Amino acid sequence: MAGIWLAGMQGTGQGDLIRSQELTVAREQSSMMARELKDLNHQIARLSLLNQALWELIRERIKVTDAELEQKAREVDLRDGVEDGCVTNTPLQCPRCGRVSNSKHWKCLYCGQDFEKPAML
Ligand SMILES: [Zn+2]
Repeated sequence: MAGIWLAGMQGTGQGDLIRSQELTVAREQSSMMARELKDLNHQIARLSLLNQALWELIRERIKVTDAELEQKAREVDLRDGVEDGCVTNTPLQCPRCGRVSNSKHWKCLYCGQDFEKPAML
């Protein structure tokens, strides 16, 4: 209790000013992250809606089944070598020079060789 009391009495020091500035920066960062999270949630909800609408149109027009969609999703999921329910960037070995680049570039960072790129990513 004495520590809390003493800290309260020392409210005019340089250290308190710095802590106050740090708190202001932390609050601003927190607020910015909350806005970005809200935007991302909105984008995900919008994309989910469009994805569902597209799927229903395709299913009706070309007569594909939910099972075929699931099978294709699994096939696409496995392209990065890991069945984890999402497409992630993975190291790719260049067929021309043999060095390893990240799949997000779809190009060898060393020799410029284009990698085979899926239609959508
Ligand atoms: Zn290369």
